Amino acid sequence: MKGRQVILRAYGQPFEIQEYDVPDPGPGDIVLRITQAGICGSDMHTWRGDTENNPVPPQGRAMGHEGTGVVYKLGQGVTTDALGSPLHEGDRVIHTAILPCQHCPQCLRGDHNLCVNRVSRTVGEFPYFIGTFADYYYVTPRQPVFKVPDELSDEVLGPVNCAMGTVTQGLTVAGVREGQSVVIQGAGGLGLTATAMAKDMGADRVIVLDRLENRLRLAEEFGADDTINIAEYVSTSVAKRCRLIPPPWC
Ligand SMILES: [Zn+2]
Ligand SMILES: [Zn+2]
Repeated sequence: MKGRQVILRAYGQPFEIQEYDVPDPGPGDIVLRITQAGICGSDMHTWRGDTENNPVPPQGRAMGHEGTGVVYKLGQGVTTDALGSPLHEGDRVIHTAILPCQHCPQCLRGDHNLCVNRVSRTVGEFPYFIGTFADYYYVTPRQPVFKVPDELSDEVLGPVNCAMGTVTQGLTVAGVREGQSVVIQGAGGLGLTATAMAKDMGADRVIVLDRLENRLRLAEEFGADDTINIAEYVSTSVAKRCRLIPPPWC
């Protein structure tokens, strides 16, 4: 059985699609069949090469980190999801997008993004399916998986393991509580998610800042009580620079 994986070879260029044999999962691992993938702002930065001093590796870069799928094959010893629910082939799951070690001091503190033992997987090497812009995705024990309730459609699951996870952490760390006012800077994917989640968490007033009217109108649809177009409050020179430099640098 073969599957496809989308690869970035050069910034700003069309992606390549590579085919690989779908590996059997090792003990503790899971192979997913991807059913939905989200296009994150980070994917756009990666494709454009916005990260300075970070050339594309010679093997290329596997694309996609948001996404969801169904269990294609379970490795030896995998019988449940991270919460103990029985797991079977065909079950819909969401997986964590990063691969922290789960054991270092940073991981134990909950700061998985600061893990000192992070691993990077190489394009073209086992397990091949390392991005969600693909037919399959290889999950290791570093990545907890969670069974998805039937009432959630595939359409809403794509961004859960990036945009929604990031926003959940942000609002939790910020300590958002009922009755509070919340200011959200930027009405992109994360900002819109944060707007809806802050309202759901009981925020009384959610105020969203952006410089693009269409994004602010979207924020209202996502529950913003007030929106502010910052372009109306910055100096002419800054506004001019904002028009010249595309987001997010402005
Ligand atoms: Zn993302
Ligand atoms: Zn760690």
